[in-house]
Amino acid sequence: MKSAPATMTEFLPFSRPTLGAAEEQAVLDVLRSGWITTGRQCQELEASFNAAVGSPYSVALTSATAGMHLCLLAMGIGPGDEVITPSMTWVSTINMIVLLGATPVFADVDRETLMVTRATVEPLITDRTRAIIPVHFAGAALDLEPLRALAQERGLILLEDAAHAIGTHYDGQPVGSSGTAIFSLHPIKNVTSGEGGVVSTQDAALAERVRRLRFHGLAVDAFDRKEQGRAPTAEVQEPGFKYNLPDLNAAIGVVQMGQLESFIARRTHLANLYLEEFRNFEEVQPLGLPTWSQRHAWHLFIVRLDLERTSLSRDEFMAALKELGIGTGLHFRASHLHRFYRERPEFVRQPLAATEWNSERMLSIPLFPGMADEDVARVIAAMKEVLS
Ligand SMILES: *Cc1c(COP(=O)(O)O)cnc(C)c1O
Repeated sequence: MKSAPATMTEFLPFSRPTLGAAEEQAVLDVLRSGWITTGRQCQELEASFNAAVGSPYSVALTSATAGMHLCLLAMGIGPGDEVITPSMTWVSTINMIVLLGATPVFADVDRETLMVTRATVEPLITDRTRAIIPVHFAGAALDLEPLRALAQERGLILLEDAAHAIGTHYDGQPVGSSGTAIFSLHPIKNVTSGEGGVVSTQDAALAERVRRLRFHGLAVDAFDRKEQGRAPTAEVQEPGFKYNLPDLNAAIGVVQMGQLESFIARRTHLANLYLEEFRNFEEVQPLGLPTWSQRHAWHLFIVRLDLERTSLSRDEFMAALKELGIGTGLHFRASHLHRFYRERPEFVRQPLAATEWNSERMLSIPLFPGMADEDVARVIAAMKEVLS
C-alpha cells in the first residue's frame, strides 16, 4: 500500500481512494454477471458491515444522506419537531431535517475534539425536541455514554452520524454496535463504493422500514438469485424512494471492507508522524485527542491555523499550500454560516463560539493510505515555507 513519494511537482491531494486490481476485478465480475443493480453484492456488503460493526441489521443505500433521510422519516420526524445537531457537520444532515419540515437546533462543540457533549446539548432540549444527531468526528469516537444517558432520561432518539467512523471503536466496541449509526462510502471516506451509505441498527423494525423505503416502499422481498429480481407480486406498502445501491458499487465496497484494518493501520502510522511533527509547530495545531476509551480511525487529519501568529487567513493559507502542490480540504464550514442557514437565525439558540472559532481556522491536510511517509515531511515543509 505504501507508494513512492510524490515528486515535488506532483500535486498531493488531501485524499485519494486506494483502489486496485481486486476492485477492478470485482466490478468486471459484476458487469459480466448479467446483474448490475442491487443484488448479491449489496447483500454481501450489508453482511460485511454487520460483521465489522457488530450490528444485527445493516441496510446499504446510495449515500449516507439517503440513510439520514430515511432514518428521520422512519422515526416520524416532521413538522413541529426539533432535532439537535452540531452546526459543525456536513450540511446534508441539516438539509434533510429541513426538507422533512422539522427544525434543526444547532449545538456547539468541544473546541478541541469538534464533538457535541451533554453540556452543549442539554440546554437546547425543549418540549418539541425529538432527536439528537451527534457526529463521530474525523475518525475519533464521540463520548457516547453521557449522550445516551441524556437521550434515555429525556425520551429522545439518538442517531449517530458515523460517516467518518467506519472502524472507529468506542469503549472497546465498534461504532454502530449499539444504537443506530449511519456510515458513508463516499470516495473520501475510509472505505468507498464510489458513492454509497449504510444504516446499521439493533432495531429490526427500523431496518425493515428503511429497507422498504429505499425501494419504492415495496414490501420487503429479498433479492432472489434464481429470479434475479423481486417477485412481481411485491406491493407498495407506503410511497418510497429510489435509494438502492447498485451491485456495481457494492462490489467495490465489499473488497474495500476486506482492507479496512490495513487502511486504518496505515492512516494511524501517518497520523502519528504528523502528531510528532506538530509537537513543535506553534502556528498550526491539530485537533485534541479524546480522553475517553476509543480507537481513532483517522479519517481526516484536521489542523487549526493560529490567526494570532500569522497575517494570513485560513483561506489564503490553503491557497498558498495549493501553489506549492499540497491539497487541503475544509471539514467543515459551520452549517449555520451557509447562506440559507444564515437567513434562519432561529436555528441558533445558544452561542456557537467554539464552532465559529474552528470554522475560521480549520483545514484538513493530506491523509490517505497511499501516501508515503515522505509526503508527511513535504506537507510540513510546505506549511513552514508558507508561514515563513
Ligand atoms: C460525508 C458526510 C456525510 C454524507 O455522506 P454521503 O455519503 O456523501 O451522503 C454526512 N455527514 C458527515 C459528517 C459527512 O462527513
